[in-house]
Amino acid sequence: MTVTANYDAIAKCNKCGFCHVACPIFRATGHESGVARGRLALLRGIIEKRVDWNEELSEPLFSCLGCGACTTNCAGAVPTADLILNARSEFYEKVGKKPAHRLLFEHLLPYPKRLHLAARAAAVGKNSGASKFAKALGMLRIFGRDLPKAEGIVDKLPMKSFRGDVKPDTYPGQGDKLKIGYFVGCGVDVIQVKAGSASFEELKKVGKSVTVLSNCCCGLPPWSYGDIENTKKLALKNLKIFAEADVDVIITDCSSCASFLKEYKKVFHDDPEQLALIEKIRPKLRDIVEFLAEHNVQPNADGAAAESAADSDYYDPHAAKIDSEKGVVDSRKKIVATYHDPCHAVRGQGIKSESREVLKSIPGLEFKEMKESDWCCGGAGSYALTHYDLSMKVLDRKMRNLKATDADILVTSCPACMIQLTFGIKRHGLKTKVFHIAEIEELMKESEKV
Ligand code: SF4
Ligand code: SF4
Repeated sequence: MTVTANYDAIAKCNKCGFCHVACPIFRATGHESGVARGRLALLRGIIEKRVDWNEELSEPLFSCLGCGACTTNCAGAVPTADLILNARSEFYEKVGKKPAHRLLFEHLLPYPKRLHLAARAAAVGKNSGASKFAKALGMLRIFGRDLPKAEGIVDKLPMKSFRGDVKPDTYPGQGDKLKIGYFVGCGVDVIQVKAGSASFEELKKVGKSVTVLSNCCCGLPPWSYGDIENTKKLALKNLKIFAEADVDVIITDCSSCASFLKEYKKVFHDDPEQLALIEKIRPKLRDIVEFLAEHNVQPNADGAAAESAADSDYYDPHAAKIDSEKGVVDSRKKIVATYHDPCHAVRGQGIKSESREVLKSIPGLEFKEMKESDWCCGGAGSYALTHYDLSMKVLDRKMRNLKATDADILVTSCPACMIQLTFGIKRHGLKTKVFHIAEIEELMKESEKV
């Protein structure tokens, strides 16, 4: 859809400015061009031919986090993030698509095995300190202009992917009837591998079987960059896999993937055949946060630790290895936990109370709400790789709020947020450790042993 076709939605903005208070970019910069009202004025300028399509539009179009906070604060619910994403698509048509994106979206994300190889090459370069080697391979540079500044966000990368250990297949569970499909997002598959292992173990406790799907990327990265063509290719591959899988539910532990999978109808709005298929699949899709709340997963009575399939040679990139040495689990009776709501969970899917229910149901855990817990952390997928300084300003605000909680652990449900939050904690010298919500049960078992 063109910017012009969105005129009615854009024109709904009455310039009241209520979005200013909620926009992390505006709060970080104070610039009108960074807030919904300013961005919508720009789109209107394009429609009214006061603004030309050219490279200068890149910054105002791509500096939006897509967090959706402005819409929540807007009486008319103007969907600025969607309108901006749409405009990015036209930007690429009129101004040109970047070759780096083609490599990533067309040659890596559709093929999990290639992605695993690329991640492994990047890990070799990164972990050995030979980043230049990995850069020379082009495996890191594709991720954005600010990569030299942002390279330190991830300390080390796991040498083995989740699906390198747990191959796509059907595994028996301890439940009696539910057949679960596990959608493995790219971030969990190649970076937050431990979160993937924890999710897999949680799902096996409930399901009669768990099928690790051979899905590819959900399509959110190309969609965020306005690349509809590659988004469709990825979504079609996944829809075929979903349609063929003999499962009752499809669960993912990445809230960004979950949100986007639930929104596939946006991608195929003009394709009745795919819309009919999406209609059938949509009721099966769940974010693992919803699933854990629904099934009220509690620590095992016998305390038996589930063996993590990917523990062997795995370096935990979010530095939250569960052991007393690192000080997560100590002799205190309660572990204080707080929660960061990923944008794609809280605004993308309306998930908020579920995460609190899960955490509050866990014995020995004291939940402490963080101020602005639903504000974007500045991660926004690969945002820090393209807008490092802005991303850090948004992150610093999140860290100030985290510090005020004095929490031992910060829990969330998006692998990209985990990377960003872990970096923020290191940057601010805090002691808090970051966990995926699926990992908490294991953490509490360890706490019982101390
Ligand atoms: S709150 Fe909504 S209507 Fe008001 S200025 Fe922002 S986008 Fe426009
Ligand atoms: S989506 Fe987020 S970053 Fe973009 S204009 Fe709205 S509040 Fe600001």
